[in-house]
Amino acid sequence: MTRIKIAIDGPAASGKSTIGCILAEKLGYLYLDTGVMYRAVTWAALDRGVPIEDEEAVTRLAETVTIEVIPATVEDGRQYSILANGRDITWEIRSPDVNRYVSPVSAYQGVRRAMTQQQRRIARDGGVVMVGRDIGTVVLPDAEVKLYLDASLEERSQRRYLEYQQRGQCVTIDEVRENVMLRDRIDSTRDTAPLRPAEDAIVIDTTSMSITEVVERTEAIVRAAIAAAEKRD
Ligand code: C5P
Repeated sequence: MTRIKIAIDGPAASGKSTIGCILAEKLGYLYLDTGVMYRAVTWAALDRGVPIEDEEAVTRLAETVTIEVIPATVEDGRQYSILANGRDITWEIRSPDVNRYVSPVSAYQGVRRAMTQQQRRIARDGGVVMVGRDIGTVVLPDAEVKLYLDASLEERSQRRYLEYQQRGQCVTIDEVRENVMLRDRIDSTRDTAPLRPAEDAIVIDTTSMSITEVVERTEAIVRAAIAAAEKRD
């Protein structure tokens, strides 16, 4: 069976991870949320006291830190476990500090180069659903399916706020909205690999759609692409 590459991009909290994970499970594909890699680099810089504004030092760290995304090792609601140099940082990468600094770190060209290299290696043989900001435009421009999920700022902030509440993390909706807005602004205006839909991406506004509806819609797109790829091969 032909195993294609599926790229899902979109702004913060647009439902990319939820949908990507469900699609990957349905297809028996590998799922990679590339945001966790940028978050892991940011966490490592904060943990080691590397100044975030020191581009050279942060880039060196991105080139040397070993990031692993493995099946969940603990049943605490996680989709997977994230290790940095062997240490479990699955929840640490969701901290307010990481939220604050991840976009500046992700704007560094050298950091992106290091992450992109690893992501392309992981996707080499296909059978992958990769989620991020620049997957369709930069990392996997040859992906057979490119989706760009969007939703209103208010809807995205509410969804993220609910996630925090479910995890017992104490934040206000205003703080969540501020962070989502700030990250979107930095991510879409940076020079290297800014957030934007690829020219051949299918843009889906999920503001008033349920998860089930988005899954149905995207699964239909993906199944059609797999059928087309099989015919071609
Ligand atoms: O997807 P998530 O919100 O976890 O991503 C965290 C941050 O990582 C984003 O705000 C963005 O700055 C960065 N990122 C990126 N490119 C990707 C994935 C994430 O720049 N492909």
